[in-house]
Amino acid sequence: MKKIGKAIFAGCIVLLLIPASCTLNKSSLPDRLLDNQQISVTVSPEAARSDCDTLVITCIDYRFAIANQEFANDTLGLRDNYDHISIPGSIYNLVNPETRPLLFSKFALSVSMHLINHVVVVSHRDCGAYGGSVTFGSEIAEYETLTADLKMARELFLEKYPTLKVDLFLESLVKEGDETKVHFEKIL
Ligand SMILES: [Zn+2]
Repeated sequence: MKKIGKAIFAGCIVLLLIPASCTLNKSSLPDRLLDNQQISVTVSPEAARSDCDTLVITCIDYRFAIANQEFANDTLGLRDNYDHISIPGSIYNLVNPETRPLLFSKFALSVSMHLINHVVVVSHRDCGAYGGSVTFGSEIAEYETLTADLKMARELFLEKYPTLKVDLFLESLVKEGDETKVHFEKIL
């Protein structure tokens, strides 16, 4: 009983410490909008128009956020020429019949407002929407499921929009020495 009492006591301390440390971290962040200072970012003349060609769909996962932007802007050359839908699970939402109408409704908005003719779908390994890599049991099983879902997503897009160009990519976090990099693989 004494051991149980100590465990409960230790648990209470941990619970008390977690909110305290979160508050501390937040309050130590600099306030970048101090005194309602106005922030402005210059937009390139290329972006000041009424439509764009491409829609990029990615997962929200923060680990891939910067890599996704660099990939779209620089590798694919889409800077200032794409809409971006970032949604947990990326294409999982299109493959899943329950959430498919939601993604298609947002996609239809992008098509009608910006005359989209090209979709880039990026899915990634170890995605929380699938339950992470452990769900699949092996790297090969994960690869096969994710690539099959990407291809199914392309079929679904082409059923609705037959003239659309659809490019598929699978991204992974890869250790290279001391660095972690994001690798993109084009899925045909
Ligand atoms: Zn994800």
